[in-house]
Amino acid sequence: MSESPGPHAAEDPRFLEIRDRLAVVRRRIADACEAAGRQNNPPQLIVVSKFHPADDVRRLAALGVTDVGENRDQEASEKAAKLGALGLRWHFVGQLQSNKAKSVVRYAHAIHSVDRPQLASALARAVAAEQERTGRSPLECFIQVSLDDDAGSHRGGASRLDVPALAEQLAGSPGLVLAGLMAVAPLGADPVASFERLADISVQLRQDHPSASAISAGMSQDLEAAVRAGATHLRIGSDILGSRPALR
Ligand SMILES: *Cc1c(COP(=O)(O)O)cnc(C)c1O
Repeated sequence: MSESPGPHAAEDPRFLEIRDRLAVVRRRIADACEAAGRQNNPPQLIVVSKFHPADDVRRLAALGVTDVGENRDQEASEKAAKLGALGLRWHFVGQLQSNKAKSVVRYAHAIHSVDRPQLASALARAVAAEQERTGRSPLECFIQVSLDDDAGSHRGGASRLDVPALAEQLAGSPGLVLAGLMAVAPLGADPVASFERLADISVQLRQDHPSASAISAGMSQDLEAAVRAGATHLRIGSDILGSRPALR
């Protein structure tokens, strides 16, 4: 395992690899923004670093990345503790058990996967305690919506019909900020149509919660479709850091 890139970044092959892959993804995002006429309103890039070592996150920070994503509490909390000095914003993007809320609020800037009332309550309690203890900033919460009609193949998230009540709950919880919506495009579906559906749900949400305008959508395979449909946050892993074992 290599050490942090430090002053020898130019001689660290992994640093150079990540630099080049990141440049390709940044170019794709810029091109997609241009095609969508939103050069002045680009999305926030979140690099999903799950499975990749803390040293890769150091390399990302040296390349100007400010926001990273993780989907497992244990891995995320270890990396965040190790890399506290880098001042990164940590985004939790995976399915979250309520009993992990206490741990997650110690390091997370945002949770992209709030999908049920029990989790929202657990996060509200945990963040209140953490604010008491450390004065941490409010926790940004994205409601994860399922874009899949077919329950058999769905990739997580609340039903669209459950969004209004969950939004009310989050908006009414001190310490939580209702940021907006998150979704993963259903496997095998056209991502453009899926993300347009998400944009439509976002319009509805903003009728009651005008500031909840964030849309977290777009992964390595479908970032162009997400930019086109108005995503404000992209979650990109493998195209920047390489592949990971399939079962993670
Ligand atoms: C892993 C993951 C990503 C990143 O996916 P890639 O295809 O590697 O870009 C994005 N969002 C969520 C919820 C993830 O779990």
